[in-house]
Amino acid sequence: MFNFKLKLCSLISLCFISLLLPSQALAQWHQKSFKVMGTQAHVEFWLADNDSTIENASSASELISAVEQEMNRIDRLMSPYKADSELSKINQLAGKEAVVINQELFDLLLDSHKIAELTNGTFDITYASIGYQYDYRQGQKPAENEIHQTLDAIDYRAVILDKQQSSVKFQNQDVRIDLGGIAKGHAVKQCLAILKAAGIEHALVSAGGDTGLLGDRRGRPWFVGIKHPRAAEKTAVQLPLSNESISTSGDYERYFIEDGVRYHHIINPKTGDSARKVVSVSIIGKDSTYVDALSTAVFVKGLQEGMGLINQLPEYEAIIIDNQQTLHVSKGLQEN
Ligand code: ADP
Ligand code: MG
Repeated sequence: MFNFKLKLCSLISLCFISLLLPSQALAQWHQKSFKVMGTQAHVEFWLADNDSTIENASSASELISAVEQEMNRIDRLMSPYKADSELSKINQLAGKEAVVINQELFDLLLDSHKIAELTNGTFDITYASIGYQYDYRQGQKPAENEIHQTLDAIDYRAVILDKQQSSVKFQNQDVRIDLGGIAKGHAVKQCLAILKAAGIEHALVSAGGDTGLLGDRRGRPWFVGIKHPRAAEKTAVQLPLSNESISTSGDYERYFIEDGVRYHHIINPKTGDSARKVVSVSIIGKDSTYVDALSTAVFVKGLQEGMGLINQLPEYEAIIIDNQQTLHVSKGLQEN
Protein backbone atom coordinates (compact mmCIF):
# COMPACT_ATOMS: atom_id res chain seq x y z
CA MET A 1 0.00 0.00 0.00
CA PHE A 2 1.15 3.52 -0.82
CA ASN A 3 2.00 5.39 2.33
CA PHE A 4 4.55 7.83 3.60
CA LYS A 5 5.62 9.31 6.91
CA LEU A 6 4.22 12.64 7.82
CA LYS A 7 7.40 14.50 8.65
CA LEU A 8 6.69 17.78 10.38
CA CYS A 9 8.86 19.96 8.20
CA SER A 10 8.19 18.26 4.90
CA LEU A 11 4.45 18.23 5.38
CA ILE A 12 3.61 18.46 1.74
CA SER A 13 4.98 21.36 -0.12
CA LEU A 14 1.71 21.56 -2.02
CA CYS A 15 0.68 24.02 0.71
CA PHE A 16 2.57 26.69 -1.10
CA ILE A 17 1.35 25.99 -4.57
CA SER A 18 -1.76 28.03 -3.92
CA LEU A 19 0.47 31.08 -3.50
CA LEU A 20 1.40 30.72 -7.14
CA LEU A 21 -2.16 31.06 -8.34
CA PRO A 22 -2.90 34.07 -10.54
CA SER A 23 -3.96 37.34 -9.04
CA GLN A 24 -7.59 37.53 -7.98
CA ALA A 25 -7.93 41.11 -9.24
CA LEU A 26 -9.88 40.12 -12.36
CA ALA A 27 -12.60 38.31 -10.50
CA GLN A 28 -15.31 39.57 -8.20
CA TRP A 29 -14.52 37.77 -4.97
CA HIS A 30 -16.95 37.48 -2.06
CA GLN A 31 -16.39 35.74 1.25
CA LYS A 32 -17.29 35.59 4.91
CA SER A 33 -16.30 33.53 7.94
CA PHE A 34 -18.71 33.09 10.84
CA LYS A 35 -19.41 30.83 13.79
CA VAL A 36 -22.22 28.30 13.74
CA MET A 37 -22.88 24.79 15.07
CA GLY A 38 -20.10 25.24 17.60
CA THR A 39 -17.53 25.64 14.86
CA GLN A 40 -16.09 27.99 12.27
CA ALA A 41 -17.90 28.24 8.93
CA HIS A 42 -16.79 29.93 5.74
CA VAL A 43 -18.39 30.81 2.42
CA GLU A 44 -16.53 32.07 -0.59
CA PHE A 45 -17.44 32.48 -4.23
CA TRP A 46 -16.17 34.29 -7.26
CA LEU A 47 -17.51 35.56 -10.56
CA ALA A 48 -15.63 36.59 -13.65
CA ASP A 49 -15.46 40.39 -13.93
CA ASN A 50 -17.90 40.52 -16.83
CA ASP A 51 -20.32 38.07 -15.18
CA SER A 52 -23.69 39.67 -14.47
CA THR A 53 -25.14 36.79 -12.39
CA ILE A 54 -24.78 38.98 -9.34
CA GLU A 55 -25.54 42.53 -10.35
CA ASN A 56 -23.91 44.33 -7.47
CA ALA A 57 -22.04 43.90 -4.25
CA SER A 58 -25.18 44.12 -2.13
CA SER A 59 -26.80 41.12 -3.79
CA ALA A 60 -23.55 39.19 -3.26
CA SER A 61 -23.69 40.03 0.42
CA GLU A 62 -27.36 39.03 0.51
CA LEU A 63 -26.38 35.68 -0.90
CA ILE A 64 -23.69 35.30 1.74
CA SER A 65 -26.29 36.16 4.40
CA ALA A 66 -28.61 33.53 2.94
CA VAL A 67 -25.87 30.93 3.40
CA GLU A 68 -25.23 32.04 6.97
CA GLN A 69 -28.95 31.97 7.74
CA GLU A 70 -29.27 28.51 6.25
CA MET A 71 -26.56 27.15 8.53
CA ASN A 72 -28.22 28.80 11.52
CA ARG A 73 -31.60 27.40 10.51
CA ILE A 74 -30.18 23.86 10.37
CA ASP A 75 -28.49 24.39 13.73
CA ARG A 76 -31.79 25.50 15.30
CA LEU A 77 -33.48 22.41 13.88
CA MET A 78 -30.83 19.82 14.71
CA SER A 79 -28.79 21.04 17.67
CA PRO A 80 -28.76 18.70 20.67
CA TYR A 81 -27.73 21.69 22.82
CA LYS A 82 -30.82 23.78 22.08
CA ALA A 83 -33.71 22.60 24.24
CA ASP A 84 -36.27 23.84 21.68
CA SER A 85 -34.69 22.21 18.63
CA GLU A 86 -36.70 19.56 16.84
CA LEU A 87 -33.93 17.08 17.60
CA SER A 88 -34.29 17.77 21.35
CA LYS A 89 -38.05 17.25 20.99
CA ILE A 90 -37.41 13.85 19.42
CA ASN A 91 -35.05 12.89 22.23
CA GLN A 92 -37.64 13.93 24.82
CA LEU A 93 -40.64 12.19 23.28
CA ALA A 94 -39.75 9.44 20.81
CA GLY A 95 -39.01 6.91 23.57
CA LYS A 96 -42.69 7.08 24.49
CA GLU A 97 -44.57 7.81 21.27
CA ALA A 98 -44.17 8.31 17.52
CA VAL A 99 -43.25 11.94 16.86
CA VAL A 100 -44.18 13.55 13.54
CA ILE A 101 -41.20 15.56 12.37
CA ASN A 102 -40.06 18.03 9.76
CA GLN A 103 -39.47 16.37 6.37
CA GLU A 104 -35.88 17.55 6.02
CA LEU A 105 -34.99 16.08 9.40
CA PHE A 106 -36.86 12.89 8.57
CA ASP A 107 -34.89 12.56 5.32
CA LEU A 108 -31.62 13.04 7.20
CA LEU A 109 -32.67 10.29 9.64
CA LEU A 110 -33.34 8.06 6.63
CA ASP A 111 -29.88 8.86 5.23
CA SER A 112 -28.39 8.15 8.66
CA HIS A 113 -30.09 4.77 8.65
CA LYS A 114 -28.81 3.94 5.17
CA ILE A 115 -25.26 4.93 6.12
CA ALA A 116 -25.48 2.89 9.32
CA GLU A 117 -26.37 -0.14 7.18
CA LEU A 118 -23.61 0.63 4.67
CA THR A 119 -21.01 0.94 7.44
CA ASN A 120 -22.18 -1.99 9.51
CA GLY A 121 -23.28 0.26 12.35
CA THR A 122 -20.00 2.13 12.79
CA PHE A 123 -21.92 5.28 11.87
CA ASP A 124 -24.82 5.21 14.30
CA ILE A 125 -26.65 8.31 15.50
CA THR A 126 -27.82 6.41 18.61
CA TYR A 127 -24.20 6.54 19.83
CA ALA A 128 -25.64 9.56 21.67
CA SER A 129 -27.42 7.26 24.14
CA ILE A 130 -24.03 7.19 25.89
CA GLY A 131 -22.34 10.02 23.97
CA TYR A 132 -24.28 12.73 25.78
CA GLN A 133 -22.55 11.72 29.01
CA TYR A 134 -19.15 12.81 27.74
CA ASP A 135 -18.18 16.41 28.38
CA TYR A 136 -14.88 17.07 26.65
CA ARG A 137 -14.55 20.63 27.94
CA GLN A 138 -15.03 19.52 31.54
CA GLY A 139 -12.98 16.35 31.04
CA GLN A 140 -15.92 14.12 32.03
CA LYS A 141 -16.76 10.63 30.84
CA PRO A 142 -19.35 8.06 31.87
CA ALA A 143 -18.33 5.34 34.34
CA GLU A 144 -17.73 1.89 32.89
CA ASN A 145 -20.87 0.43 34.43
CA GLU A 146 -22.95 3.27 32.98
CA ILE A 147 -21.54 2.49 29.56
CA HIS A 148 -22.31 -1.16 30.09
CA GLN A 149 -25.91 -0.50 31.04
CA THR A 150 -26.48 1.80 28.08
CA LEU A 151 -24.84 -0.20 25.29
CA ASP A 152 -28.14 -1.92 24.44
CA ALA A 153 -29.63 1.46 23.56
CA ILE A 154 -26.96 2.05 20.91
CA ASP A 155 -28.56 0.49 17.87
CA TYR A 156 -29.71 2.38 14.79
CA ARG A 157 -32.37 -0.28 14.23
CA ALA A 158 -34.12 0.98 17.36
CA VAL A 159 -34.99 4.21 15.50
CA ILE A 160 -38.26 3.41 13.75
CA LEU A 161 -38.99 5.68 10.81
CA ASP A 162 -42.48 5.79 9.33
CA LYS A 163 -42.36 7.30 5.83
CA GLN A 164 -46.12 7.69 5.55
CA GLN A 165 -46.44 9.66 8.75
CA SER A 166 -42.98 11.22 8.58
CA SER A 167 -42.61 10.14 12.18
CA VAL A 168 -39.92 8.69 14.39
CA LYS A 169 -40.17 6.43 17.40
CA PHE A 170 -37.51 4.80 19.57
CA GLN A 171 -37.92 1.14 20.42
CA ASN A 172 -36.03 1.60 23.63
CA GLN A 173 -36.66 4.39 26.17
CA ASP A 174 -32.94 4.90 26.70
CA VAL A 175 -32.22 5.76 23.05
CA ARG A 176 -30.97 9.24 22.21
CA ILE A 177 -29.83 10.47 18.84
CA ASP A 178 -27.35 13.13 17.75
CA LEU A 179 -26.67 14.28 14.20
CA GLY A 180 -23.23 15.81 14.92
CA GLY A 181 -21.63 13.32 12.52
CA ILE A 182 -23.81 14.27 9.53
CA ALA A 183 -25.53 17.65 10.06
CA LYS A 184 -22.58 19.81 8.98
CA GLY A 185 -22.26 17.87 5.73
CA HIS A 186 -25.99 18.34 5.18
CA ALA A 187 -25.64 22.06 5.90
CA VAL A 188 -22.81 22.38 3.39
CA LYS A 189 -24.91 20.59 0.78
CA GLN A 190 -27.89 22.89 1.37
CA CYS A 191 -25.71 25.98 1.13
CA LEU A 192 -24.10 24.84 -2.12
CA ALA A 193 -27.61 24.34 -3.50
CA ILE A 194 -28.56 27.91 -2.53
CA LEU A 195 -25.50 29.29 -4.31
CA LYS A 196 -26.07 27.14 -7.37
CA ALA A 197 -29.71 28.20 -7.58
CA ALA A 198 -28.54 31.83 -7.60
CA GLY A 199 -26.35 31.07 -10.62
CA ILE A 200 -23.03 30.78 -8.79
CA GLU A 201 -20.71 28.29 -10.45
CA HIS A 202 -17.55 28.61 -8.37
CA ALA A 203 -17.79 28.43 -4.59
CA LEU A 204 -16.41 26.97 -1.41
CA VAL A 205 -18.56 26.40 1.67
CA SER A 206 -17.19 24.91 4.86
CA ALA A 207 -18.40 24.12 8.36
CA GLY A 208 -15.65 22.82 10.64
CA GLY A 209 -14.01 19.88 8.89
CA ASP A 210 -16.64 19.69 6.14
CA THR A 211 -16.02 21.48 2.85
CA GLY A 212 -18.06 21.52 -0.35
CA LEU A 213 -16.87 22.94 -3.65
CA LEU A 214 -18.64 24.19 -6.74
CA GLY A 215 -16.48 24.40 -9.83
CA ASP A 216 -12.90 25.58 -9.58
CA ARG A 217 -10.88 28.48 -8.27
CA ARG A 218 -10.29 30.63 -11.33
CA GLY A 219 -9.32 27.82 -13.65
CA ARG A 220 -7.25 26.01 -11.01
CA PRO A 221 -8.43 23.65 -8.32
CA TRP A 222 -9.44 24.85 -4.88
CA PHE A 223 -6.96 23.76 -2.20
CA VAL A 224 -8.43 22.19 0.91
CA GLY A 225 -6.19 21.50 3.87
CA ILE A 226 -6.26 18.53 6.21
CA LYS A 227 -5.06 19.64 9.62
CA HIS A 228 -2.00 18.07 11.13
CA PRO A 229 -3.51 15.84 13.82
CA ARG A 230 -0.87 16.69 16.43
CA ALA A 231 0.11 20.27 15.59
CA ALA A 232 -2.97 22.50 15.53
CA GLU A 233 -1.38 25.30 13.54
CA LYS A 234 0.02 23.00 10.87
CA THR A 235 -1.50 21.49 7.76
CA ALA A 236 -0.79 17.82 7.08
CA VAL A 237 -1.69 17.99 3.42
CA GLN A 238 -3.33 20.34 0.95
CA LEU A 239 -5.51 18.71 -1.67
CA PRO A 240 -6.32 20.21 -5.04
CA LEU A 241 -10.05 19.64 -5.58
CA SER A 242 -12.85 20.89 -7.85
CA ASN A 243 -16.55 20.05 -7.75
CA GLU A 244 -16.08 17.72 -4.77
CA SER A 245 -16.82 17.57 -1.10
CA ILE A 246 -14.37 16.56 1.59
CA SER A 247 -14.92 15.82 5.25
CA THR A 248 -12.27 15.26 7.90
CA SER A 249 -12.87 13.54 11.23
CA GLY A 250 -10.08 13.84 13.76
CA ASP A 251 -9.44 12.97 17.39
CA TYR A 252 -8.01 16.43 18.06
CA GLU A 253 -11.07 18.70 17.79
CA ARG A 254 -12.85 17.88 21.03
CA TYR A 255 -10.94 15.76 23.52
CA PHE A 256 -9.28 15.46 26.90
CA ILE A 257 -6.50 13.19 28.08
CA GLU A 258 -6.80 11.19 31.30
CA ASP A 259 -4.11 8.77 32.49
CA GLY A 260 -2.47 9.01 29.09
CA VAL A 261 -5.69 8.00 27.28
CA ARG A 262 -7.33 10.33 24.77
CA TYR A 263 -11.11 10.66 25.14
CA HIS A 264 -12.57 12.37 22.11
CA HIS A 265 -15.83 12.94 20.30
CA ILE A 266 -15.91 9.99 17.87
CA ILE A 267 -17.45 7.05 19.66
CA ASN A 268 -17.30 3.40 18.73
CA PRO A 269 -20.97 2.36 18.99
CA LYS A 270 -19.96 -1.17 19.97
CA THR A 271 -17.96 -0.09 23.04
CA GLY A 272 -19.32 3.35 23.97
CA ASP A 273 -15.68 4.47 24.19
CA SER A 274 -13.72 6.78 21.86
CA ALA A 275 -12.40 5.11 18.71
CA ARG A 276 -8.60 4.94 18.77
CA LYS A 277 -7.46 2.97 15.72
CA VAL A 278 -6.50 6.06 13.71
CA VAL A 279 -6.15 9.81 14.33
CA SER A 280 -7.59 11.42 11.20
CA VAL A 281 -9.84 10.36 8.34
CA SER A 282 -10.80 12.43 5.31
CA ILE A 283 -13.35 11.28 2.77
CA ILE A 284 -13.73 12.84 -0.67
CA GLY A 285 -16.83 12.48 -2.85
CA LYS A 286 -19.66 14.36 -4.51
CA ASP A 287 -22.20 14.15 -1.70
CA SER A 288 -21.36 16.37 1.29
CA THR A 289 -23.77 14.55 3.57
CA TYR A 290 -22.34 11.13 2.83
CA VAL A 291 -18.69 12.17 3.05
CA ASP A 292 -19.39 13.67 6.48
CA ALA A 293 -20.96 10.50 7.85
CA LEU A 294 -18.45 8.23 6.11
CA SER A 295 -15.49 10.06 7.65
CA THR A 296 -16.93 9.32 11.09
CA ALA A 297 -17.63 5.67 10.20
CA VAL A 298 -14.18 5.05 8.69
CA PHE A 299 -12.62 6.66 11.76
CA VAL A 300 -14.37 4.07 13.91
CA LYS A 301 -13.47 1.21 11.58
CA GLY A 302 -9.77 2.05 11.46
CA LEU A 303 -7.30 1.64 8.63
CA GLN A 304 -7.86 -1.84 7.31
CA GLU A 305 -11.60 -2.15 7.54
CA GLY A 306 -12.20 1.52 6.77
CA MET A 307 -9.98 1.60 3.70
CA GLY A 308 -11.51 -1.73 2.66
CA LEU A 309 -14.97 -0.14 2.68
CA ILE A 310 -13.92 2.96 0.75
CA ASN A 311 -12.04 0.91 -1.85
CA GLN A 312 -15.33 -0.86 -2.54
CA LEU A 313 -17.21 2.41 -3.09
CA PRO A 314 -16.13 3.89 -6.43
CA GLU A 315 -17.66 7.28 -5.63
CA TYR A 316 -15.53 7.90 -2.55
CA GLU A 317 -11.85 8.24 -1.72
CA ALA A 318 -10.10 8.29 1.64
CA ILE A 319 -7.01 9.71 3.27
CA ILE A 320 -6.30 8.11 6.63
CA ILE A 321 -3.60 9.08 9.12
CA ASP A 322 -2.86 6.20 11.48
CA ASN A 323 -1.52 6.21 15.04
CA GLN A 324 2.07 6.29 13.80
CA GLN A 325 1.17 9.40 11.77
CA THR A 326 1.59 7.51 8.53
CA LEU A 327 -0.68 8.69 5.77
CA HIS A 328 -2.60 6.17 3.67
CA VAL A 329 -4.70 6.85 0.58
CA SER A 330 -7.41 4.86 -1.14
CA LYS A 331 -6.85 3.16 -4.50
CA GLY A 332 -8.43 5.91 -6.59
CA LEU A 333 -5.98 8.47 -5.21
CA GLN A 334 -2.96 6.24 -5.85
CA GLU A 335 -3.79 6.12 -9.56
CA ASN A 336 -3.76 9.90 -9.93
P1 ADP B 1 -16.70 16.97 13.50
O1 ADP B 1 -18.00 17.07 14.22
O2 ADP B 1 -15.53 17.44 14.30
O3 ADP B 1 -16.75 17.49 12.10
P2 ADP B 1 -17.15 14.27 12.68
O4 ADP B 1 -17.75 14.60 11.36
O5 ADP B 1 -16.30 13.07 12.73
O6 ADP B 1 -16.35 15.44 13.31
O7 ADP B 1 -18.33 14.04 13.64
C1 ADP B 1 -18.09 13.75 14.99
C2 ADP B 1 -19.42 13.94 15.65
O8 ADP B 1 -20.26 12.85 15.23
C3 ADP B 1 -19.35 13.85 17.14
O9 ADP B 1 -19.16 15.11 17.71
C4 ADP B 1 -20.70 13.28 17.46
O10 ADP B 1 -21.67 14.33 17.46
C5 ADP B 1 -21.02 12.38 16.30
N1 ADP B 1 -20.59 10.98 16.47
C6 ADP B 1 -19.60 10.48 17.25
N2 ADP B 1 -19.46 9.15 17.09
C7 ADP B 1 -20.41 8.80 16.17
C8 ADP B 1 -20.77 7.54 15.55
N3 ADP B 1 -20.14 6.40 15.84
N4 ADP B 1 -21.78 7.56 14.64
C9 ADP B 1 -22.43 8.71 14.34
N5 ADP B 1 -22.13 9.90 14.87
C10 ADP B 1 -21.13 9.95 15.76
MG1 MG C 1 -18.27 13.19 10.00
